[in-house]
Amino acid sequence: MPNRVLVVDDLSISRVILRARLSAACYDTLLAHSGQEALDLARRELPDLVLMHCGLPDLDGAEVCRMLRADPRTWHIPVILFSAQGSRANRLAALAAGADDFLVRPLDENYLLSRLRALLRRSALERDYQGQETPALRAGLADAVRTNARSGRVGLVEPEGGSASDIAAPIDMRIAMSDALNPPQQSALPDVFLLAPEIIGGQGLAIISELQSRPMTRQIPIVAILPQDMTVECGMVLDLGAEIVLRLPLDPEETRLRLDAVIRRKTWADALRLALGAELDLASRDALTGLFNRRHALSRLTEMIEGRADTPARHFALLMIDLDNFKQVNDLFGHLSGDAVLTEVAARMASAVRSDDLLARFGGEEFLLALPGLDALSARAMAEQIRSRIESAEYRTGPNNTRLRITASIGVSVHDGSQQASAEPVSAQIQRLIDQADQALHTAKSSGRNRVALGFSAVA
Ligand code: GH3
Ligand code: MG
Ligand code: MG
Repeated sequence: MPNRVLVVDDLSISRVILRARLSAACYDTLLAHSGQEALDLARRELPDLVLMHCGLPDLDGAEVCRMLRADPRTWHIPVILFSAQGSRANRLAALAAGADDFLVRPLDENYLLSRLRALLRRSALERDYQGQETPALRAGLADAVRTNARSGRVGLVEPEGGSASDIAAPIDMRIAMSDALNPPQQSALPDVFLLAPEIIGGQGLAIISELQSRPMTRQIPIVAILPQDMTVECGMVLDLGAEIVLRLPLDPEETRLRLDAVIRRKTWADALRLALGAELDLASRDALTGLFNRRHALSRLTEMIEGRADTPARHFALLMIDLDNFKQVNDLFGHLSGDAVLTEVAARMASAVRSDDLLARFGGEEFLLALPGLDALSARAMAEQIRSRIESAEYRTGPNNTRLRITASIGVSVHDGSQQASAEPVSAQIQRLIDQADQALHTAKSSGRNRVALGFSAVA
C-alpha cells in the first residue's frame, strides 16, 4: 500500500504540480486548499504525512500544525511546512509549532523526496498500529508515551579521544565512535546520535548505514553534522539512514528545535513498539490464568517440530493435564470458586516449569505442557512432580474458606526428533501427539484418576 501524503496549498496550480510529482514517486495524495479542510481531512483520513504551505487563506500553516500536534489522533503525523519566505524567524516559527521540517519554495525535489522517505521509514510500524488499534492498545500506548516521555538524551558521537570541536547543540553525553558501534550495553546509548563533523570527515558517510544496520543501534535516529568543506547532497545522506542533516555553522535555537522533533518521533516509535508488543503478548495469553492460550500453544508446537533459525528442532515430551471431577467443584461451590481453583492450579504448575517449556491452558480445565529435550522417562518424572504439586496442598474457596482437595490426571506422549524427516504434515504430527497424550490421559482417568500414564509413542 503506497504512503498517503496530504498536500495543503492555497494555490490550485501548486497543488496539482505537487500531486504530479508525488504520484510519479508512487505516493497517493489527498489535497486541501485551506487550514480547516486540512484539519478535517487529517482527522478523517489519517494520512502518513502532511506537506503544507505556510500561507493559507484561513489559518496559518504553523497554526494548523500546532492543532494537529494537540490532537491525540493526529499528533504523530509528520508535518513538513514550506514557504517562499525562508527567513530565520519563519523557520523557527514552523519548527516551534511542531513541524518536522521547513522548506523554502521553490522546493528542491530530490531533497523533498529524501526527506519524505526519512520521515516515512517508520510508517510501517504506525500502519500496524492503526490496523490493530483497540481501546486497550490505545490506553497502553498513552501509558507508554507517558512513561517514555523523559527528555530524550542527545549523544554526540566523536572520534576516539574526544577530539570533536565545540558544537552549538544541547548535548547530554559524548560517545566514542567505537562505543557507538559496539555499545557495552543498551542503557549506555542515547535517544539520538548526533554525528560530529569530524566523524563524517574522518570515516565518511558509511558510518550512518553501519549504525542503522546494527541491532542495538538500529532504532536510534541519526542527526548528521556535515563538515564545512564537504560537498554532498543532503538527500543522499538522508537516504543512507540519517533522520536530518545539519550544516555548520549551527544555529543553536534551530538545532534544539530540530532535535526536539527527532526525539518526539523516536519517543512515539518506542511507545508504539512497546504497546504493540504488549498487545501481541496479550493476544497469546489466556485471560483467566495468564498462561499461554491454545492458539499460541499450537503455533509454538509447530515451531518446536520445524525448528527455527535460533532453535533447532529436537525431541520433546507432551503432557495433557486434566483436573479430576472438576465439574463437582463448580456444582458444589459455584463457577467463581472453580475459576479461583483454575488460577491456583495454573500458578502451581507455572512454578514447576523451566523457561523454555511451553505451558498453556488448552481447554476449560485441561492444560498442555511441552518439555523440550525430555524423553519418556524424564517426562514421566516431571509429570509426577506436576501431579503431586497440584495435589500437595488444599485449596481454599468460598466465603467460608472451604478446603478442597484437587487432583489431576496426566497423559504423556513423546515427539521423537527423527520423525521430522517424515513427509507427514506438521499439523498431522501435532494432532497425533495430542491424540496419543489424550489416550494416555483417558487410561489414567479410567484406572482411578490422580495418576500419570504414558501414551503409545512414549512406551514404544
Ligand atoms: P474428569 O475427571 O473426567 O475430567 O471429570 P470433570 O468433571 O473434570 O470433567 P468434565 O469434562 O465432565 O467437566 C469439566 C468441567 O470443567 C465442566 C466445566 O464447567 C468446567 N470448566 C471448564 N472451564 C471452566 C472455567 O473456565 N471455569 C470454571 N469455573 N469451570 C470450568
Ligand atoms: Mg476434568
Ligand atoms: Mg476436561
